[in-house]
Amino acid sequence: MKQHITMALAGNPNAGKTTLFNELTGARQHVGNYPGITVDYKIGRFSYEGQEIVITDLPGTYSLTAYSVEEIVSRDFLTTNRPDVVINIVDASNLERNLYLTTQFLEMGVPLIIALNMIDVAKDRGIEVRYEKLAELLGVQIVPIIARSGEGTKELIKQALEVAHSEKIWCPKDISYGDDLDEVLMELVSIITDSSFLITTYPPHYTAIKYLEHDDQILAMGQKADPLVTQKLEQMVASISDHLLKTMDVYPESMIADHRYGFIKSIVRQGVLSHKFDIDRLYASDKIDKVLTNRLIGPIVMLLILFGLYQFTFSWSELPVSLMGSFFGWLGGVVDATLPDGPAKSMLISGVIDGVGGVLGFVPLIMFMFFGIAILEDSGYLARVAFMMDRIFRIFGLHGSSVMPFIVSGGIAGGCAVPGVMATRTLRSPKERMATLLTVPFMNCGAKVPVLVLLIGAFFTDHQALYMFLFTMLAWLVALVVAKFLRTTVLKGEATPFVMELPPYRFPTLRGLLIHTWERTWQYIKKAGTVILGISIILWALMTYPGLPDSQSESFEAKRTVTRQSYPQPIRTELLTHNEEAGKLSPEAQQLREALTIIDQQESGAGLRYSIAGKIGTFLEPVSSLAGFDWRTNIALLGGFAAKEVIISTLGTAYSMGEVKVDVSDSLGERLVRDPHWNSVVAVAVLIFIMFYAPCFVTVVCIAKEAGSWKWAFFSMAFNTTFAFFAAVAVFQIGSMLG
Ligand code: GDP
Ligand code: MG
Repeated sequence: MKQHITMALAGNPNAGKTTLFNELTGARQHVGNYPGITVDYKIGRFSYEGQEIVITDLPGTYSLTAYSVEEIVSRDFLTTNRPDVVINIVDASNLERNLYLTTQFLEMGVPLIIALNMIDVAKDRGIEVRYEKLAELLGVQIVPIIARSGEGTKELIKQALEVAHSEKIWCPKDISYGDDLDEVLMELVSIITDSSFLITTYPPHYTAIKYLEHDDQILAMGQKADPLVTQKLEQMVASISDHLLKTMDVYPESMIADHRYGFIKSIVRQGVLSHKFDIDRLYASDKIDKVLTNRLIGPIVMLLILFGLYQFTFSWSELPVSLMGSFFGWLGGVVDATLPDGPAKSMLISGVIDGVGGVLGFVPLIMFMFFGIAILEDSGYLARVAFMMDRIFRIFGLHGSSVMPFIVSGGIAGGCAVPGVMATRTLRSPKERMATLLTVPFMNCGAKVPVLVLLIGAFFTDHQALYMFLFTMLAWLVALVVAKFLRTTVLKGEATPFVMELPPYRFPTLRGLLIHTWERTWQYIKKAGTVILGISIILWALMTYPGLPDSQSESFEAKRTVTRQSYPQPIRTELLTHNEEAGKLSPEAQQLREALTIIDQQESGAGLRYSIAGKIGTFLEPVSSLAGFDWRTNIALLGGFAAKEVIISTLGTAYSMGEVKVDVSDSLGERLVRDPHWNSVVAVAVLIFIMFYAPCFVTVVCIAKEAGSWKWAFFSMAFNTTFAFFAAVAVFQIGSMLG
């Protein structure tokens, strides 16, 4: 008996692979309705009656051609890892479509067992699958299951283990592809077998089919392995292609696909399905879709739903967000009161509490947002959004499947470009994928939203919702226009046809929603506790050190000590307020006030100028002032490259300095409004810059990884920053001219 049994789960998107995987391994992971969200295969372990089993969740695919990343990942896994058994999950409520992939496993000749899933859904639709009959016709064992409730999964594993241990030799199934092709296929197979061409990787029959299908990946492999044989095979394929085109006006690949479907149809017709109801009855999903994806009503409903999500998030999170804000304010106060003055206190307050607290303060908002999006996703509605948006996206050289990455990145409000960039894996065409990858960072991610809220709240108090809406639309507009620009220049190429399946609507489970919400929120919190914490402390240090030159510093220290000792807080307040009431300051009070002013300036403003960050900010000022940014804004924007979340906290620190401190500190928004450097034109210029400049560091790394080279990551940084800067300069210059 083998020590480990390896199993692979394969099937169409939404057939229930992930659900079954979780059921078997107990692992928690994303269960999305969006086709193909699991591109990386996931590995889990479990044991059955003492037998250790390693199982892999392959990405969902409809086929095994070389058109998409998922398909290549899946079939490479099967040929290189050679699992002991492949569990093919088939959605019983969509039998014919699902069996198309099954035929290709049969052609490959992998050890196979079919898990007939969703028998509950099929039953609701009045369909019963006579699985014993189907098993007999296909020559494969079949176990009916309900992955969601775990029904039948024990039996499935028991039988899968039998298959894995059996000595049966799996021969590729001979499906007929029509007389012409069958004949050529036999010749191809004999050449391949005689010259041992690629036989360590694929069965000869399979290689032959792939040559007929003109499979790029395998053609390239063959070319490398043996150019002579390849040439011979390609010649034969070319001549049969010609013949087919002339006689029947089809290409071999569509001929093959047609015959696979024919094979399935003939099997299913032999009494595999029994319908309780009228087959022509419209399924509930189709009925709903008649309305929700209607050309006219669809988009209106979509906007209403998205707007509802927006309302829900902002209204429900208002109270918790303000409570969080008060909590961190209170915490800062406690630390301020209990710790002695010094770098430790300053770091705790300015670095840790302001930085991390600023990010954590938005956790409730993020949570409500994710919850709403989880409902749309799990119910199957987001796939409809993609479907409807395809028409618009096409104009800009993108694909309907690009919608999802845009929304994940913050297209509705709040999101993150990192999962957005990863979600582009669902795109088939490399160029459309690259164009999407490079433009998703333009969306207003969860880190930019607080900045928008802050600046809009401060400078456009009366029309907050409207401006928020306008800036969201602007993000989409810029992303689409830039995508179009890229697709007509560096990423020129054909569009791929839209081949998205609409999964049936499903009622989301509360448990699923909560898990999704929590997983995403937790990632956000984790980021605050690790990356953001680190960056905040580094930025605090950059803004604090080296501090004032020594001579100034010593005399200043002395002055501060003297002032603090001679005038403790109660006396200070009394002296100042008492005198103010009298209308005139006594000389003593006058002196005290001057001393305090100097101390405050020295403690902060001057120190900030002398700090490393201050020097960099000042150095950039001559250029940045073209867009209306002063040196303090520059510091915040530089920090924002590390993570956009720190823009707010850095602005907060930078603008709390250099002012005479009053007992009640104003909010950051109020401080900005009063600052002579700021006005509504500057605010818009800053907003535009923040929305469009270089993606944050983590996103850049992600782009490099997904695009396969750092070239695109650098391109994205340089291109976006240049674009953002010119846009900000234009806004500032034109805005200032018009007043
Ligand atoms: P994958 O794309 O193949 O990984 O599919 P998922 O595991 O994400 O499943 C897609 C949806 O089908 C999820 O909402 C599951 O809860 C649901 N689902 C999975 N198996 C069953 C089942 O046996 N019955 C029902 N009714 N729903 C199921
Ligand atoms: Mg999945």
